[in-house]
Amino acid sequence: MKTVIGVDIGGTKIAAGVVNERAETRREVTLPTLAGEPLEASLGQVYSAIGQCLGEGVSAIGICAPGPLNPKTGVVINPPNLPHWRNVPLARLVGERFGLPCRVENDANAAGLAEVLFGAARGMESVLYVTLSTGIGVGIILNGRIYHGKNGAAAEGGHVTIDYRSKAVCNCGVPGCIEVLASGTAMAGRDRRYPTAESIGAGVAAGEAAAVAILDDTCEMLAAWMGSVVSLLDPDVIVVGGGVSRIGEPLFTRLRRLVPGRTINQFAHETPIVAAGLAGQVGIVGAAAVMLAG
Ligand SMILES: [Zn+2]
Repeated sequence: MKTVIGVDIGGTKIAAGVVNERAETRREVTLPTLAGEPLEASLGQVYSAIGQCLGEGVSAIGICAPGPLNPKTGVVINPPNLPHWRNVPLARLVGERFGLPCRVENDANAAGLAEVLFGAARGMESVLYVTLSTGIGVGIILNGRIYHGKNGAAAEGGHVTIDYRSKAVCNCGVPGCIEVLASGTAMAGRDRRYPTAESIGAGVAAGEAAAVAILDDTCEMLAAWMGSVVSLLDPDVIVVGGGVSRIGEPLFTRLRRLVPGRTINQFAHETPIVAAGLAGQVGIVGAAAVMLAG
């Protein structure tokens, strides 16, 4: 059975583990990223985490790293939460150091692929994966493969605008990106009584009108966006993960009700909108999926 190492590089910690074709994970390691220290220090942590996972049968290394990065070349360009990383050829460095094939991928792309291999989209061909978290990330799987685009920069769905006149200007410079309007950060910024998406979920569960209003409004915006994406892609399934998705049925019920009315796609009411199947493990398993996919 094919066995690979998955490495999930975040702004604060690096997690790695050995993953097989059944998504069984072992030899897990977590190390601090040391993002504030020079590049050599945080790269050293990446090498150390991989070194602790190495063992017989390991045939490749998949890495999820913060974007922007180019998955085609394996170069990490200039991620805001890794300030000392500038045009780091990570796939080449790791591949040469350990003598194994290595690829680097965006976390949402990798998570989407992991959902196809092991999760809620198992066996599906065309998948829209959405992570609703502090930001909004998207992975597009077409014909069973991650869609990268010309420069490896495709699937930045969080930076699709739904309101070009919006006063809310996204970090990317575009007014009204869905991320700046409907991410967990945006939801938490609307009412001091509900400082987190989790507290909004609790408020909705308790029937508190102000929390319900935030969720209603957010789902209207998400549906406008998701409906447009359905018009564009006509996916087999829409898989939603990330911390905000833990609001659960109140979120999913609204999206399922609203999305078919926000697209020309007359089959949209049959397109499942489902929760991600891989929860906490998606980082390591997602990174591994990049090397486990056929
Ligand atoms: Zn944006």
